[in-house]
Amino acid sequence: MPFSPIPRGVYPSVTEIQPKQLARRGIKLVLADLDNTLVPYKVPEPTPEIVAWKQELEAEGIQLFLLSNSRKPGRAQHFAQTLGIPFQGHSGKPKRSGYLRAMERMGCTPEQTVMVGDQIFTDTLGANRSGVVPLLVRPIRLAGNPGRYIRYAVETPFRLLGERRPFL
Ligand SMILES: [Mg+2]
Repeated sequence: MPFSPIPRGVYPSVTEIQPKQLARRGIKLVLADLDNTLVPYKVPEPTPEIVAWKQELEAEGIQLFLLSNSRKPGRAQHFAQTLGIPFQGHSGKPKRSGYLRAMERMGCTPEQTVMVGDQIFTDTLGANRSGVVPLLVRPIRLAGNPGRYIRYAVETPFRLLGERRPFL
């Protein structure tokens, strides 16, 4: 489904995505968005919950990878370094090239890869175009930016469709 904006399930937060279940489905690589997926906007460091989730993933032989659209080194890169995971900026989501580059670097196929993100028209769409399983999470915090509420409203039909076809 190359241009589908429909995710494979909507999860309350990334930590609700069970590493054991991912491993059972043959997943080896979790590409993750940063803002409103792993932490709220502007938060510079991983929370203890995210650190624990990353460790659970690793215990299942799954690598967490920060796939960022950021064009400048800075917060996202610092976040990845602090968490001890690989980072790729300039990913250009929803274009395919950033997803393909990340999978090539990690030696994984699309069938072994999921994308976790909070936005339909970047994270989910790009994953579907790349053959990667898109897992949508609820944005951690919409407050602070009216544009985010508008985008969330526009995304709602796709969220509802995605809730009916969970991957896990
Ligand atoms: Mg985001």
